[in-house]
Amino acid sequence: MRIAILKERAAGEQRVAATPETVKKFIGLGAEVAVESRAGEGASITDAAYAEAGASVAGAKDVVKGADIVLGIQAPDVADLAGANAGAWVAALFDPFTRRDTVDAYAKAGFEALSMEFMPRITRAQSMDVLSSQSNLAGYKAVLVAANEYGRAFPMMMTAAGTVQAAKVFVMGVGVAGLQAIATAKRLGAQVSATDVRSATKEQIQSLGAKPIFVESVEGIEGEGSGGYATEMSEEYQKAQAELVSGHIAKQDIVITTALIPGRAAPRLISDAQIATMKPGSVIFDLAVAQGGNVEGSVADQVVVKHGVKIVGYSNTPGHLAADASALFARNHFNFLSAFWDKEAGKPVLDEEIGNAVRLTQGGKVVNERLAG
Ligand code: NAD
Repeated sequence: MRIAILKERAAGEQRVAATPETVKKFIGLGAEVAVESRAGEGASITDAAYAEAGASVAGAKDVVKGADIVLGIQAPDVADLAGANAGAWVAALFDPFTRRDTVDAYAKAGFEALSMEFMPRITRAQSMDVLSSQSNLAGYKAVLVAANEYGRAFPMMMTAAGTVQAAKVFVMGVGVAGLQAIATAKRLGAQVSATDVRSATKEQIQSLGAKPIFVESVEGIEGEGSGGYATEMSEEYQKAQAELVSGHIAKQDIVITTALIPGRAAPRLISDAQIATMKPGSVIFDLAVAQGGNVEGSVADQVVVKHGVKIVGYSNTPGHLAADASALFARNHFNFLSAFWDKEAGKPVLDEEIGNAVRLTQGGKVVNERLAG
């Protein structure tokens, strides 16, 4: 069983799919691990550290040659997999709804694409869930970047020269990223409020010491779909939410938006007209910018200034914390494959529930039901 780790090819991608820690653990299971030279550079991991952990370090072609499993952060192009064994597994982020051509190319080449973003949200898969591990870091980083762009302080400070007021931070979307954003903003001393369409988050917001801002006027709305994900909300709800947010947002210094709906463009939460009501010098961080954006006018990897308000968003926020993001992503990969390791076969054998959820291609075909049609 040979596991290959390539250096990420996507522009700006600093993360790497294995660390010396996980290399050692895979070797402990009886696998052989090959790592492309300089694969860990962006995450401050040297070739020597991989070699010390027991990996062979070589050029891309030699690494992929004879591989049974290729681990990635973002799925490599099929052309980079030449020489891998027939039917080899590739576990990575495939962005399957928008990069359908890549999925089709994997099917055609006979590889088995395993989409880490399709990991089911079930208790036993929590330790394998890259969306959670990466979102947590993204929520933290979003607040730090916003704080850095903000021309004022976060905590209240009483000084001899007078008092500095605490910053008001509003978090929209309280999933994994939003909860971490709330916690981070609180730690920095801000006054924090938050909203979500899932009513279950109200208690979580309060438990972090923040103030929940919720639409109460529209009845019967839970907002929770399968797997804890948000559902698309009714027009009536969206209107009520927009009104509530409009009133609140005008008083905020920092807004962090994190709202995503799987398989669809991110919901628009903040319009240009709402931005115009904010104070000059306020900062908005749009964590959904790569999925179409929660904020009107946000542009990935740029600081856009509108009505005196800075709008920021990264196309790859966890990639800005590459060392920790890699460490967690690599553990997610290991937890996934090791949970299914069949000692006799000397390789992982997936069960139906998780296998069917993550497997995109098999036997030359696209097999995932979420991609049907
Ligand atoms: P997400 O990244 O899909 O979305 C971020 C948040 O935005 C969600 O809380 C969502 O409800 C919210 N949102 C969507 N549309 C909105 C709108 N119009 N206005 C305001 N908010 C909106 O969410 P997530 O981080 O993946 O978390 C979703 C849930 O799944 C959480 O309860 C989380 O704890 C749970 N979860 C479970 C597992 C597991 O059991 N393995 C793993 C990860 C997350």
